[in-house]
This record gives sequence, structure tokens and C-alpha cells, in this order.
Amino acid sequence: MYRMAERELCTGCGACAAVCKERAITMKMDREGFRYPKINAALCIQCGQCGAVCVRRDGGKDSLSRTCWGARAKEPETRLLGSSGGIFPLLADQVIQEGGVVFGAVLQKNGDVTHMGVDMRKDIPLMTRTKYVQSELSQVWREIGPLLQEGRKVLFCGTPCQAAALRAYLGENLRGLILVDLVCYGVPSPGIWRHYVRFLEKRYKGPFRSFAFRDKRGGDNGHTAVAEVGEKTVAYSLYQDRFCRSYFQNINIRPSCFHCRYCTTQRASDITLGDFWGIEHVKPEFDDGMGNSAVICHTAQGQRLWEAVQDKTQWFSCDERDIVNSSQPRLREPTEPSSRRGWYMGLYGRIPFRMWLRLFKA
Ligand SMILES: Cc1cc2nc3c(=O)[nH]c(=O)nc-3n(C[C@H](O)[C@H](O)[C@H](O)COP(=O)(O)OP(=O)(O)OC[C@H]3O[C@@H](n4cnc5c(N)ncnc54)[C@H](O)[C@@H]3O)c2cc1C
Repeated sequence: MYRMAERELCTGCGACAAVCKERAITMKMDREGFRYPKINAALCIQCGQCGAVCVRRDGGKDSLSRTCWGARAKEPETRLLGSSGGIFPLLADQVIQEGGVVFGAVLQKNGDVTHMGVDMRKDIPLMTRTKYVQSELSQVWREIGPLLQEGRKVLFCGTPCQAAALRAYLGENLRGLILVDLVCYGVPSPGIWRHYVRFLEKRYKGPFRSFAFRDKRGGDNGHTAVAEVGEKTVAYSLYQDRFCRSYFQNINIRPSCFHCRYCTTQRASDITLGDFWGIEHVKPEFDDGMGNSAVICHTAQGQRLWEAVQDKTQWFSCDERDIVNSSQPRLREPTEPSSRRGWYMGLYGRIPFRMWLRLFKA
């Protein structure tokens, strides 16, 4: 049997399952709630396709033409739509106006986070804003290749490992594809998130309606979480929310994130977007609490798309060091696991979930 990925490095993208013509690979959640490939040895013909498409050991490429910007959408509504400066919604709008399709992470009605494609401007808000949950990509594998073959333009936005996986999966057939990736702290467990959604439903006695991980309406750069469950709308600090606490304490993060090869400006994408943390040291007049984006263009294609929306933003050009050195550790090194991660994750699933959550009290 082909030995596909050392488990610690598997990003759980699912490209191996998608590429397998024998349908020998399925993605299954492990006991920490992360998806990993499971091979049915009876169906596997050892063709090696899964290994060839796997990006576990890949990293990004250096770019000589990289340009760096600080920016935010001029229109306050668009800026509010995004978690940072609202640059993603502008890029998405541009691509859709050019007849393209945009794929991004959508919080589904049941709380799951999955990537979906939209080609209508009115649907862009479905995929804006950061969700601190690893998203599922099966629709991406099914739909993007055929769209590119039809000659449609496609914008994909996701974590850097997802963008790299999509590039590897499509191989030569990249014409028309624009890859936007994010600065990324690491992805939390979708299984634990599912558990948390059910917990909120019990607690607030009604169905899950939505959850904003980065609500900016309080002018705090999106450090407020807002849950809408049943009749209730509850807002609290991002760092008080128990699920988010287990994230920012470096517990519920996927093991591969601690070895991430994309915590650098060398990427496999056309554009990288992130929060412009530390903007107060670089451009203090931009620091109004409503979020700013760091925009890094790696390729000529990325630069063209950025220039097409630049007029709709307030922007300044900057040095790479302004972004990397400000307060942006995730462009220098991966998140470190908590020394107690094993202990916490060992208890997950073994004690009642509400008790497990209590371990993360403020
Ligand atoms: C898990 C995660 C961790 C992050 N960590 C950092 C960090 O440490 N430092 C930093 O500067 N920025 C981080 N970001 C990026 C930041 O939060 C913003 O997403 C980014 O700056 C774009 O903001 P925007 O205002 O332009 O658009 P937004 O509308 O906020 O961007 C939304 C885009 O992000 C994508 N997205 C949202 N959730 C997910 C998800 N779960 N998986 C894949 N794609 C998703 C959507 O597809 C959409 O395209 C992180 C994002 C995520 C999802």
C-alpha cells in the first residue's frame, strides 16, 4: 500500500481522496475531530496518484515581483463585510463582474464550514468573514476543474495549504485560476466545532442560526464573537468564547499547522491577505478599530486583480518588513502547540463536552 502522508504533516485537504479514481480513499474524522484520509486496501491499486498530489512537504515559492500593501475598502459596508479591511469581498466582486466564479468558506445552516462557489454578487456575503474552523473542500475538487475547462475565471480563497493543494490537484490546468490565500494561525477542529454548535443549541434552547467569529461593529478590530442561536443573540469577547479560547490557547489546532510551511511570505498563491496587525506603528492614521488588510501580491496575475480593485480602497504601499515585523508572527513561524495540548485533547470525547469546555473558562 502506498504510504501517503506522515500523519503529523497531513493537512486534511482531501486532494488524495478526490484524485483517487478507484475511490479507495475516504476522509474520516479522527478522535480530535480532524479529517484524515483512510485507505481501503482492497480497492487501492497502488498507482501513487494520492502521493503525487499531496502537499505535506511542499512550501511556497519566492517571488521577485512581490508587492506589499496596506488597504481597506472605502465603502464602510464592504469593510464591515470582511474580518480585516474587506479586501476579499472586493476581489470577489471584481471576478464575478468579469463573469467568474468565486470559491470561499461558507458557514452552513447546521454550523459546518464548507467551501462553495458563487457567481452572483448578492451571494458574496455568504463567504466573507473569517471562520475559525477547518473548512471542507469536496465541492472545490468536483467543480473547479470543469469550470476552468469551460474557460471560466475562478477565484479561490482559503488557507495557504488549501491553495497549494488546489494548485497541485489541478496540475497543468490552471489557466483562469486565481489563488488567494490567508495569513493563518492554524485551523481548529471541525469535529469540536460541531460539538460546540450542538452545545450552544442546548444552552440557548433553539436552532443554530449563525456565528460571527470576528464581529467588528464594536470598533475593536473584530475581537468580538456573536452567536445567534434560537431566540438569542449573544455577543462577548472573542477571548471569552470557550471554543475560541481553546483555539487561541493552541489546543484545538490541527497538528500539521504546527509544522506549517507557509508561515512565510513565500506562497503558492497569487495574493495573500491578512490582518494588518501593528498598523499603528506603520500608518497610525489608518488605526480606527474597524480592521485593515495586509495585501501581498506574489504574481503578475495577482497584481492585476489587486490593481483592478485598488480604486475602491484606501491604500498605501509598504515594505514587506512593515507587514512581517509589525505584529504578524504567522509570516515568520508556525504557531507553537500548547505544552498541555495532549492533556486537553486526551480528555476530549472522554468527559462530557460541557465539562471539557469548562477547562477553558476565562
Ligand atoms: C483559520 C484562520 C486563521 C487566520 N489567522 C490569521 C492570522 O493569524 N493573522 C492574520 O493576519 N490573518 C489571519 N487570518 C486571515 C484574516 O482573518 C482574514 O480572513 C483575511 O485578512 C481576509 O480578510 P478580508 O477582510 O479581506 O476578507 P474576509 O471577508 O474576512 O475574508 C474571508 C475569506 O476568508 C476565507 N475563509 C474564511 N474562513 C475560512 C476557513 N475556515 N478556511 C478557509 N478559508 C476561510 C473565505 O473563503 C473568504 O474568502 C486567518 C483566517 C482564518 C480563516
